[in-house]
Amino acid sequence: MKRIVVTGGAGFIGSHLIERLMEQGHEVICIDNLLTGSSENIEQHQTSPNFTFIEHDIVYALPEVGQVDEIYNLACPASPVHYQADPIHTFKTNIMGALHVLELARKTDAKVLQASTSEVYGDPLVHPQPETYVGHVNPIGIRSCYDEGKRGAETLFFDYARQFGTKIKVIRIFNTYGPRMHPEDGRVVSNFIMQALKKKPLTVYGDGHQTRSFCYVGDLVGGIIKMMASPDTLQGPINLGNPNEFTMLELAQQVLRMTNSNTSLQFHPLPSDDPKQRQPVIDEAFAHLKWKPTIMLEEGLRKTIDYFLTKIEGK
Ligand code: NAD
Ligand code: UDP
Repeated sequence: MKRIVVTGGAGFIGSHLIERLMEQGHEVICIDNLLTGSSENIEQHQTSPNFTFIEHDIVYALPEVGQVDEIYNLACPASPVHYQADPIHTFKTNIMGALHVLELARKTDAKVLQASTSEVYGDPLVHPQPETYVGHVNPIGIRSCYDEGKRGAETLFFDYARQFGTKIKVIRIFNTYGPRMHPEDGRVVSNFIMQALKKKPLTVYGDGHQTRSFCYVGDLVGGIIKMMASPDTLQGPINLGNPNEFTMLELAQQVLRMTNSNTSLQFHPLPSDDPKQRQPVIDEAFAHLKWKPTIMLEEGLRKTIDYFLTKIEGK
């Protein structure tokens, strides 16, 4: 049994990660300021002696947690709507938060994993994106607080490894979806499903021909845990995502079909710097972790639609 810190553990991905770690019998300390996460996502663990929740903003020095074996750093709003609401705080979360978890790792000799993102590739000029691609990011745009914040965090992770020998792991997560996404978090999967279930028009940004490649959260969490368990020599960065690429128009049609909804599509302007295409190369994940996603879009969407249905019905 390990003592494990998960920052951002009350959020969408973090709560699934904690569920898996608790099932494996570990002791988990969740640090979260509940900015975009919710205590509902972790309430099933609250009575467990192996679980501690600390409400804390990682922009500030971490509270005393004692000796720990592993740290997963997931704290950061992931939806463009949320991370752009207070961009300076988002940037601080990425940079100050990374410094604070790295200091904890240095002090306790714990392994520390950074949840980085496909956004480090920006609006990519190389397609699909391998880890060797250094990206095409606007440093002064509305997405920069997140993109450059995550890039800066990666820099800090590798500098801590080089300067102090800190045991680091960096994963670059591509778009992920599934139950416990916030119904109003503004991301495309939650928006389309909620709109279709409520018989409202689906809001398509731009002409809908931009692409993404969505990974089901259960698959992703398996990859995150395998990365943490890999030999210390494997620092990454490693792409984790599902290479199945489709346009937002195709996604809209699929959601309409699966919800038996015949509502219309409503076109809105494309937000600035919105990447035109995105697809992970996952050869590294397969070579080093023997990981690849197994849940394809239809099955994942079914589970996600069922989740949002229970939210709407107030169950
Ligand atoms: P989320 O918004 O659901 O979860 C983020 C969690 O971090 C929330 O519980 C929030 O309250 C917490 N948080 C935010 N700022 C904090 C702060 N300053 N201090 C403490 N806690 C804070 O997002 P998610 O989709 O679960 O994403 C989790 C991580 O994975 C993020 O770091 C995100 O950048 C990364 N990621 C997610 C995706 C995706 O598609 N979901 C893609 C790439 C990377
Ligand atoms: N998008 C859309 N309608 C929405 C929300 C998003 O067409 O209601 C588009 C958005 O412009 C982007 C894609 O869907 O091209 C994915 O957006 P999301 O916010 O989910 O993730 P990210 O842009 O960070 O990949």
